[in-house]
Amino acid sequence: MVAVTFASCGAAAQAQSASTNWMGYANPLQGTNSSGGFSRGNTLPLVARPFGMTDWTLTTGEGGWGWFFDPNARAIQGVRATHQPSPWMGDYGYFSVMAQTGKLYMKPGARASTYRPDESVIAPNYLKVPLRRYSTTLEMTPTERCSVFRVTFPKNELGRFIVQMEGDSRVQFDQQKGIISGFTRTKPDGSPENFACYFTARFDRPWKRVLLANEDKVNESATQVEGNRSGAAIEFESNEPVVMQIGTSFISTEQALQNLQSEVGTRSFDAIRTQGQQVWNENLGRIEVDGGTTEQRRTFYSSLYRAHLFPRMFHETDAQGKVVHYSPYDGKVHDGVSYTDNGFWDTYRSVYPLFALIQPERYGEMITGFLQGYREGGWMAQWPSPGYRVSMPGTHGDAVIADAVVKKIGGFDVKEAYAAMTKHANQPSPQRGAGRNNIADYLKYGYMPGSVSETLDFAYDDFCVSQVAESLGLKDDVTKYRQRAMNYRNIYDPKVGFMRAKNAQGEWRAPFNQYEWGGPYVEGGPWQSTWAVQQDPAGLIALMGGKERFIAKLDQMMVEPPRYDVGGYGNEIHEMTEMAVTHFGQYGHGNQPVHHVLYLFAAAGQPQKTQYWVRRVMNELYSPDGFAGDEDNGEMGSWYVLNALGMYSLCPGRTEYVLGSPLFKSVRLRVPGRPNLTIQAPTNSDKNVYVQKVSLNGKTHEPIWIDYADLAKGGTLRFDMGAKARERDYSRTPELLPHSMSK
Ligand code: CA
Repeated sequence: MVAVTFASCGAAAQAQSASTNWMGYANPLQGTNSSGGFSRGNTLPLVARPFGMTDWTLTTGEGGWGWFFDPNARAIQGVRATHQPSPWMGDYGYFSVMAQTGKLYMKPGARASTYRPDESVIAPNYLKVPLRRYSTTLEMTPTERCSVFRVTFPKNELGRFIVQMEGDSRVQFDQQKGIISGFTRTKPDGSPENFACYFTARFDRPWKRVLLANEDKVNESATQVEGNRSGAAIEFESNEPVVMQIGTSFISTEQALQNLQSEVGTRSFDAIRTQGQQVWNENLGRIEVDGGTTEQRRTFYSSLYRAHLFPRMFHETDAQGKVVHYSPYDGKVHDGVSYTDNGFWDTYRSVYPLFALIQPERYGEMITGFLQGYREGGWMAQWPSPGYRVSMPGTHGDAVIADAVVKKIGGFDVKEAYAAMTKHANQPSPQRGAGRNNIADYLKYGYMPGSVSETLDFAYDDFCVSQVAESLGLKDDVTKYRQRAMNYRNIYDPKVGFMRAKNAQGEWRAPFNQYEWGGPYVEGGPWQSTWAVQQDPAGLIALMGGKERFIAKLDQMMVEPPRYDVGGYGNEIHEMTEMAVTHFGQYGHGNQPVHHVLYLFAAAGQPQKTQYWVRRVMNELYSPDGFAGDEDNGEMGSWYVLNALGMYSLCPGRTEYVLGSPLFKSVRLRVPGRPNLTIQAPTNSDKNVYVQKVSLNGKTHEPIWIDYADLAKGGTLRFDMGAKARERDYSRTPELLPHSMSK
């Protein structure tokens, strides 16, 4: 399908002349052309500030599994204030804003207007949509918790803003103060009863009239309405653009106004828009790319933009200047920062190893935010959104913490983090969406009866606990959790050559089918799930019969027909489809379980195969328009960014980044408070994908990995590239690789 071209895409051309406008390369539409059956990212075109509390998106429909923007639709229903991290998690605390002339229509379908992408702009900091039905132009620019709308109505006509809450809600207005306010209780599973998203809106001129409604039933005399879909129609007679400032809060309408005062105040629409561009460029410009094609730079900065949307801040600053947050764990307001909306099962792999490089201060603060779950609800959330949600196995927040601890990121209480980790590593959680399901069985048997994915995820999480124990000098705990981290060995069946489920009696699950998904394997089958032993590649290699057989198996994976049996899923799930439509065998890059697998070639002594394959994945499975599958809170994007830098964290929770094949001739990391790091590959090209030599600050660098501490020190990392794989004796790999627990 041809990608939809918005006028914003032309901004990339401008970016070439003004080289500091990195934001101009970012395409928020990347990954939006998706459906339930086939994902090119399952993303929304979010207009937001980095890690903003409230995001904004165009809507073309009312959902159905969370899709409310289809880039192929041509009718806009409004601009939604959204907090949706992923379509299957659903939205919460959401409402819409629309502009209109003529007869009043409140319902989203009835009020929708045709629009043309080629005369519209969707940029990270700015949205512009001419609404052809109304001869009206709607513009919007956000801050972290608020947004400013500018609407140009046709001259000499009555113009109207519509602000409509979703679900159980209230809207009121204050004629004297010229303020509209209210809340929506659209709340996700697992949040306290008092959960609400509040708003307060004000305008740059007096309104002519305000009408309040529930659904499309207008209550002519009301100054407050409550019930389903409470909304306001605010009417103006103005021959100039009308500006609305709207603030959001999870605390109160007063706090929403406070957020508006501090983030927008008296600043103009254009000043907020310019500030948004500066903030985006400050963040995206922490990696300056030189070389590559325009398409590669657009893919790179679009992916980097995706990495800067989640987790979202969930804290606000009160009138006294104190940082406070509504707790989605206990329903009270507490001091301190809070972050939420992150699928750790996905994001631990690439997002946080990227943040360690370019957002170290923010990373530490994020962990403090995640620990609010432990502090206020007794358990760290397994998939915070915004509170406890049930999704995916394991407690991979452990990896997010361990990676920060070993890299000395700082900014959070390591002892408290360790207490949170060891609690869910040992105690069955009575709280849904927290802890590890059936941890008691795992501890009893040394594997999870009936489950491959849980066994492997738990063993890796145990390794992460051991890394934090080591930093705290807890020797007995290090020994205990390192032993548990070896539990992956208990479910490898050498007869079939894959990880395989066992029952409580220790019998293999039968019959075995190498193509069967589901059941013991989460979102994959034996081919995709067997490699999840990031903590011990040497042990896995030995278990699978040594380096030659291991490499042969990886080679086979890349060319094995992409067959699948729907197995326990009963139906084809879109991850199967996405694997089958690419040319990478059983390597289904469209889903996260394989994202470290190409680096196992390097770990087993054949880095040239890593180099070959990662370049192919970057070039064939990414574009400025889409991804190979679900993007998942910045994970798919961060994979691209790290690989374009020529490295990947094979094992988050360890300090090494294994080297791959850099994409650009030159890249500079400019992180405030740190020396710059330049990554050069002057002889790089589409053909020269093989690394001949690596040098760090002029000295030959022989290891196939580089340590985080060396990257943080800055300097120059240089790759000499060539068209043929380098002849080199890698026979001492992976023993050389500090990654491996088994030596
Ligand atoms: Ca996924």
